[in-house]
Amino acid sequence: MRGAVDDVSYARVAVPAATGQAFDYWAPEGLGVVRGSLVRVRLARRRCVGVVTGVHATSEIARERVQPLDDVLALPPLPEDVVALAEFVSAYYREPIGLALSLAVPPVRAGARRRALAPPQALVLTEAGSAELAARAVRAPALSALFAKLRDAPGGIGGEAIAALAPRDRRRLAAWRAAGWVAEPEPTASARRVEPNDAQRAAVEAIAATAGRFSVTLLQGVTGSGKTDVYAAAAAGAIAGGGQVLLLVPEINLTPQLTARFAAALPGARIATLHSGLSDGERLDHWAVAASGEAALVVGTRLAVYAPLPRLALVIVDEEHDPSYKQQDGVRYHARDVAIVRARARGVPIVLGSATPSLETVLHARAGRYARVVLPERADPRARAPAIRFAPEDDPGAREGLAGPLVEAIRARLARREQSLVFVNRRGYAPSLKCAACAWEAGCPRCSARLVVHREPARLRCHHCGHAERIPRACPSCGNVDLHARGLGTQRIEAALAQAFPDARIARVDRDTTRVRGAFEAVREQVAAEGIDILVGTQMLAKGHDFPRLTLVGVIGADHALYSADFRAVERLAALLFQVAGRAGRAALPGEVVVQTAFPAHAVYRALAADDYDALASDLLEERRVAALPPHAHLVLLAAEAVSRDDVDRFLAAAEHEARAARARGRAAVEVHAPVPSLLARRAGHERAQIVVQASRRPELARFLDAWVPALRALPGRRVRWSLDVDPIAL
Ligand code: ADP
Ligand code: ZN
Ligand code: ZN
Repeated sequence: MRGAVDDVSYARVAVPAATGQAFDYWAPEGLGVVRGSLVRVRLARRRCVGVVTGVHATSEIARERVQPLDDVLALPPLPEDVVALAEFVSAYYREPIGLALSLAVPPVRAGARRRALAPPQALVLTEAGSAELAARAVRAPALSALFAKLRDAPGGIGGEAIAALAPRDRRRLAAWRAAGWVAEPEPTASARRVEPNDAQRAAVEAIAATAGRFSVTLLQGVTGSGKTDVYAAAAAGAIAGGGQVLLLVPEINLTPQLTARFAAALPGARIATLHSGLSDGERLDHWAVAASGEAALVVGTRLAVYAPLPRLALVIVDEEHDPSYKQQDGVRYHARDVAIVRARARGVPIVLGSATPSLETVLHARAGRYARVVLPERADPRARAPAIRFAPEDDPGAREGLAGPLVEAIRARLARREQSLVFVNRRGYAPSLKCAACAWEAGCPRCSARLVVHREPARLRCHHCGHAERIPRACPSCGNVDLHARGLGTQRIEAALAQAFPDARIARVDRDTTRVRGAFEAVREQVAAEGIDILVGTQMLAKGHDFPRLTLVGVIGADHALYSADFRAVERLAALLFQVAGRAGRAALPGEVVVQTAFPAHAVYRALAADDYDALASDLLEERRVAALPPHAHLVLLAAEAVSRDDVDRFLAAAEHEARAARARGRAAVEVHAPVPSLLARRAGHERAQIVVQASRRPELARFLDAWVPALRALPGRRVRWSLDVDPIAL
């Protein structure tokens, strides 16, 4: 299908419209349209960018009704393997091809192509700058703020923090740089080359041995075991052989750091990054250097799984268990799974790295379908696994949620000028506001959820729909003025810490404090420069940060997950606990973890204390087997929502009826569950319910879906929004 077609007639174009179908367009000769070409077309009255999935001599549409293509974009066509990958995604996740392909289309809709800005570098004061600016700052207070920032950050201020500065300050920095008052820092210790240890060397060799063919290797390494250096060495091998490497990471926040480490480990290799934090122009440029083969390494978040890579030789998925690989709206694909499919299609090896691999991956490894290499110890020979202690959640000596042992442990760190991290996985002040006299509790008027108490500004907020209102002075139900903020959020713990340790420098990191671009990076730099004593925050803090003076991790409110109705809650909690515990004692100073819990004997905490994830994985796999849940079974979730509960019920009743018919027609061994309300039964004024279909074998499920999905699409239900999730990660 590829290549120039002389007698061009019809191009089938997949468009990213709601229907997402492919339509035929008239392709004038000389445009050089091939499968994969990015073209501009008119759809109804809209103009949009679509992808040519095929070029045909005939069309089923009458010739006079076919419109011509407007234009072929001046970009290389999507490579065949990317088009085929999108076709797979469309078929597997049961989404229209136009939507599946739109994930692979670079951001061209913005139109004008802008040159990428060079990523801002970190800057430090030079000696000349210190002297000169100290003198000037006395006279110019506007200068002195920026000067103080530079002076108080021994490691310099990083690129993200610079990007977050006011434009005037950025212009100042540029001028200072020209004057030689600030400069890029010398490479720091973290960029130093280290000799791999035996386990790392064995891992690199095992991966190298898979070169040139498809195979999946699970790299299971405890936090701090040096997985990144293994990735870098494996990547270096693939690049030396003339190949390109695709590295997927779960979060934008992790890409700058990781990119820096790879840049140090792979001198001379061109690195492209692809994530939603880039401007369209930047992403387009990075896409182009990936497509041209100039980029040796492409680092990106889940979308990067579609990057064009003509010489792909190795795929690496870091933190493969991370839920952010699963897109939760639109095309609900799992980037790790799609990456495996891509590696298989290209005949290249893929490495899945994690300290706490997903149970899916563990099961494949145990069944022998994946190779498994283990890094059992921390790589830094001085580092030890942290000591784990438990403190009762309802400790009588607790102050506003801080148990006595945690307070004492923090005090000891402050005395030794070490740092502490307190992890609370809920933002806001308190998750609920309750009346002490009656049963009233502040609820969202639009969702079946409690409102969260926030301070600064004082508000009740819904974390599901964004609704916000004033905090009432008295109970709206009984008039009692005794309203209690119940439970613990990051703001409350921050306040409690400030009260317990008035002299400590405390920083809070959660979605509320990191809305501004660069804010998180600025805190990280402050912690690295030892300008922070106590960090408090949500799971944003759990990953990928390496602070040598951070020796204590406190965990508050984790028991919450043990009550969750989501069958993956304990698996996710385990990943979070192992990861956050891994923040303590990464270098020479020994680390300690204090977990506040009412259930220290729960399997998840015992596993943490014994540093034995595999034992927990065995327990959880057995539970899943008995309950016939993934990874021992395969699920599809049909979720529906509408303003009226009746509409939802009617739609799902019809869908269930069709499911039973489809099961019979397809003779598929699947179990169709009756409709039930969703975990969040109402959101933003919409009633929500769902049907789960379960199968112990994938082909049975696929056959069932072949029969069910067309029937679903034919159902009336204009007032109902519905979506299908194949392999959902949350029910
Ligand atoms: P992981 O990703 O497995 O949690 P990292 O790759 O971040 O671990 O490595 C943890 C720390 O150990 C880093 O500071 C890294 O520089 C260091 N490190 C890695 N390999 C070695 C080694 N062979 N010898 C000494 N230190 C190492
Ligand atoms: Zn009341
Ligand atoms: Zn709400």
